[in-house]
Amino acid sequence: MTCCGHALTRRDWMWATTLSSAGAMLAGCAGTRAEAPAASEAPLADATALLRDNISIDVHTHAGANGITSRTARPSDDLARQMRAGRIAVLCLADVPDGPILGRNARNVLVALRTPEPGFLYGYHLDRLAWVDELVAKHGIRRALTVADLKAAHAAGQPAIIVDIEGLDFLEKKLERLEESYRRGVRTMQLVHYTPNDIGDFQTGPVVHHGLSPFGADVIRACDRLGVVVDVAHATADTVTQALRVSTTPLLLSHTALRGSRAQGPTPLTERQITPDHARALAEAGGSIGIWHFFPSLERYVDGLKEMADVVGVDHVSIGTDTASTPGLFSEYDHFPRLVDAMLRGGFTPADAAKVVGGNYLRIFAAATG
Ligand SMILES: [Zn+2]
Ligand SMILES: [Zn+2]
Repeated sequence: MTCCGHALTRRDWMWATTLSSAGAMLAGCAGTRAEAPAASEAPLADATALLRDNISIDVHTHAGANGITSRTARPSDDLARQMRAGRIAVLCLADVPDGPILGRNARNVLVALRTPEPGFLYGYHLDRLAWVDELVAKHGIRRALTVADLKAAHAAGQPAIIVDIEGLDFLEKKLERLEESYRRGVRTMQLVHYTPNDIGDFQTGPVVHHGLSPFGADVIRACDRLGVVVDVAHATADTVTQALRVSTTPLLLSHTALRGSRAQGPTPLTERQITPDHARALAEAGGSIGIWHFFPSLERYVDGLKEMADVVGVDHVSIGTDTASTPGLFSEYDHFPRLVDAMLRGGFTPADAAKVVGGNYLRIFAAATG
């Protein structure tokens, strides 16, 4: 962690966030900004300035109840409106290919309710890519394929998406389908979700492959060759460990929280949280870990970011809300500056907040696509 450009040790960070008030810490970091308006005069001024000066990225989202996972909502101007209102620059907008076959079991965990017939999930995935095409063509959203695209969109003040896939369950061992998705503009791909596949084991399912399968290794090599961010959310620790051995670029783990998170509290998502060792393995290879938005308040969410930063360092934490139809802090993006404001009030320096809000994902995206 850094404060006004000076490196802080882990102990300093803990000290700063636990023993000094957020206001005192910010004042201490403010340096020459003494003339800045008091928080009471312009409550979101620092947050909006940070979002103006830095590319902000939600590294995993479905864009709410009417987003890409909706069975009924067509693309509309509403997403661009929300993003402009909330000053968020980029969404990694995730299609969920196994969405049509998922349901909740007795423990309130999502599971595949049936084995999909061959080609069914592939067809659904293509339908969702057409949904994205319409969003981009008609509703004020840019599709970013490169870092240059992201910078140009941010400079122009135009909302952008990175097209994402949550679970490559539609591949059915056909790498040409992965290449097709790439040609259609997908730039982040999550290996596994809730449906058993030929790629690797997932956290809430039975162990079948004892980690990553040989085909899963081929998938990662294809992503590396094409220039796609590999997302290991939902994967077991063994799958992640083996994926790290194959990948030549840092991995993303887009949405989770620290196992046993006190900030999140009791949750049916415990199996989807990750242990400190799981998190460190990702971070030591240069990756980043997105924290989802299933917290009781913005302040607790900031605590959830800090819990992970205390384990892996602030260079390896991102915001991956998983905004969909299930309840969470963000049903839409209009109030996104309040999260940044809560981070600044909660002890993140502007430089560190900028990393978590977008910079860390940008580094991984650049490594994958560059
Ligand atoms: Zn998920
Ligand atoms: Zn998701």
